[in-house]
Amino acid sequence: MAMTNLTQNHCREPDNITCLFEITRAMKILLHICCGPCTTFPLVELRHERHAIEGYFYNPNIHPFKEFERRLGAVMILAEQTGLVVHYEKAYGLKEYLRAVVFHEEERCRRCYAMRLAATAQEAKRRGADAFSSTLLYSKFQRHELIRQVAEETAAAHDIAFYYRDFRPGWQEGIKLAKEMGLYRQPYCGCIYSEQERYDRSFNF
Ligand code: SF4
Repeated sequence: MAMTNLTQNHCREPDNITCLFEITRAMKILLHICCGPCTTFPLVELRHERHAIEGYFYNPNIHPFKEFERRLGAVMILAEQTGLVVHYEKAYGLKEYLRAVVFHEEERCRRCYAMRLAATAQEAKRRGADAFSSTLLYSKFQRHELIRQVAEETAAAHDIAFYYRDFRPGWQEGIKLAKEMGLYRQPYCGCIYSEQERYDRSFNF
């Protein structure tokens, strides 16, 4: 438990009486980072709540290799511009990802979230964090409730708290910040399946 300060609440609506009097304990949170653009708004929000944030980049679901490199590079740019400490898993995890989802493609997103969040929970414990969270909670293109469910199951399995926030209301603000930072904004979720869904016009949705 690195931080025990009590801080005035996280709410950004000064006229909201509930928010004004809510007290939130600042925590040390390891934030799973899926990409640079999705990190902008959650980082602003979590810092506004006075939490101590460090990032964790672990995404074996990003393919092909050049795309992985490009997204990793965008996170490095964001880290430098925001002063965020990020711990990186830089190995390209194609085989690891495929072994987890092949023959289970219809539930691949659950497996994909579970892989990344379990690694984040383990890393958070190893680093003495109070909780873990994820920038996946920012994207309006992700399966938000499934992420939350998987994260809560992961938290219970690893005996560490999951810090939930719905960051989606900051969608436009996050895009604006990403553009200002000059971050690469990817056109598909990450895996080769999502790349096909994005570009293959013969693909049957
Ligand atoms: S679509 Fe996105 S969340 Fe689903 S398996 Fe592919 S990379 Fe993971």
